Amino acid sequence: MTKFLETDRRTLLGMGMAASAAGAAALTGGSGVAAAAPTAPGAPAKTSLSPAQALARLLEGNRRFVTDQDNKSDISTRRRLALAAGQGPFAALVGCADSRVGPEHLFGVGLGELFIVRTAGNYVDDAGYGSLAYSVAALGVPLIVVLGHERCGAVDAATKLVTDNAQLPPSLSRMVQPILPAVVDARATLRAGGDLVDHAIHQNVRHVVRRLRQSTDPLLADPMRGDKLMVVGAYYDLDTGQVDFFDRV
Ligand SMILES: [Zn+2]
Repeated sequence: MTKFLETDRRTLLGMGMAASAAGAAALTGGSGVAAAAPTAPGAPAKTSLSPAQALARLLEGNRRFVTDQDNKSDISTRRRLALAAGQGPFAALVGCADSRVGPEHLFGVGLGELFIVRTAGNYVDDAGYGSLAYSVAALGVPLIVVLGHERCGAVDAATKLVTDNAQLPPSLSRMVQPILPAVVDARATLRAGGDLVDHAIHQNVRHVVRRLRQSTDPLLADPMRGDKLMVVGAYYDLDTGQVDFFDRV
């Protein structure tokens, strides 16, 4: 048992994912996962944008997307080759797997600019959480966006499970389980005439944002306390193409 624990500890440290200040330092120190950090010659530098500047860049990109203006996404060979040496994204994003909500398109950005976790219903599981923590601690990302969207099928399925006791195949039922508290919350706070699914989509975003903001993991909590990291919620309107950042600090 002791041997197992020691092996496990070494594995965690080797990955640079130990949940401590020392672990955070290990992430940027040059071993394990840190090897993927943008330290190689020619690699893009870590972003110098503040959380507010990163948010402004997303807003501007979405404005161009909505108005059919040429976007500034760089997917050139030159950019690809620079990124082969490392990455320096300016924001991380939690989005839905839905094919209509590809984040790079909505925000008019190119290769290597967004660090993205996508699951149906934009929920953050352990792997997603670790991915976000890595993006902040190793890559210096100053902004995490939790992006829900109009007519989300995963939230719709979760809502039907709550309101109609709908039956889902086991794998899909397990998938929507983490969304259920947001649906229950939405049902309790729905205003007269409101749309339950749409309200649940917003509440689901708020739940994920709150979980990230309330994290005691120093990989996220320390930069948030130092105003180096901001977590915001957003909603994508399929019809207008507009992203509304509705849950800001
Ligand atoms: Zn969805």
